[in-house]
Amino acid sequence: MVVGYEEGIIYDFNKLHEPIRKVPAGSTVTIQTYDCFQNQIQSEQTEVTAIDWNKINPATGPLFIEGAMPGDVLKVKIERIDIGEQGVMVVGPDLGVMGHALSKMESKILPIRDEHVQFNNLQIPVNKMIGVIGVAPEGEGVNCGTPGAHGGNMDNKMVTEGATLYFPVFAEGALFALGDLHAAMGDGEVSVSGVEVAGEVTVTLDVIKGVALRHPMLENEEVFSQIVSAPTLDEAAKTAAVGMIERIADKSSLPVSEVTMLMSAVGQSEICQIVDPLMTARFVVPKWVLDQLGVTFFE
Ligand code: CA
Ligand code: ZN
Repeated sequence: MVVGYEEGIIYDFNKLHEPIRKVPAGSTVTIQTYDCFQNQIQSEQTEVTAIDWNKINPATGPLFIEGAMPGDVLKVKIERIDIGEQGVMVVGPDLGVMGHALSKMESKILPIRDEHVQFNNLQIPVNKMIGVIGVAPEGEGVNCGTPGAHGGNMDNKMVTEGATLYFPVFAEGALFALGDLHAAMGDGEVSVSGVEVAGEVTVTLDVIKGVALRHPMLENEEVFSQIVSAPTLDEAAKTAAVGMIERIADKSSLPVSEVTMLMSAVGQSEICQIVDPLMTARFVVPKWVLDQLGVTFFE
């Protein structure tokens, strides 16, 4: 099943949006996306100041997943990411960590070929990821540039092929959407843009009953992680670690004190991004320690 962006895009995750499709749980869907500028910057001749800044971070959707109810978990397996043949980056005043030092908006087109992004005469390995992905939040809508407990603009480079995301469901049908693909991005996304690119993503969408989740989680072959967005990086990093420790303590026979020691020995506090209106951090635990503890989260 293919969902094109011409079927519907959103600029905020919002439980009031009409879904563009209803799909059964277990569906595998290919979702086409614009880049985060809605493909408005196709050459370096495009004046960045002249583009329509109301058309930023479109996410394709939302999709209504049958059977998903508030309190459930939406499981999203990222099967495949295909990206276009050129990316774009921008910098400018008040954007990103160098916004204070930059006096005008600039954009740069970066050709993508043979698994590399060309930056002048430098070759950057392609490191595909999804910036914006999530479900409708609990209360009012949240614009697609802002992350939160519903996901959204988490800009987490672990959100890539082979990863599985778990989102708390706040609205009937979950109302899933995604966009803002990057051909490459480093932790932090310090300029405020990754190598922004259009493309398509194939996901398998499932509903899990009976597991309470407050923030998104991510699993890949090696690790489980807790992802938290908050007003400061300190708070995001701490809440992510606390959430993981409590979840493991809840599932294992070890007391909280010992889980805390164990996580201090083997868990990683990592930065997703530091430039969106909220900061996003992840706490990452290797699966081998969970296996030894006999802890599983979603079974
Ligand atoms: Ca983003
Ligand atoms: Zn982006």
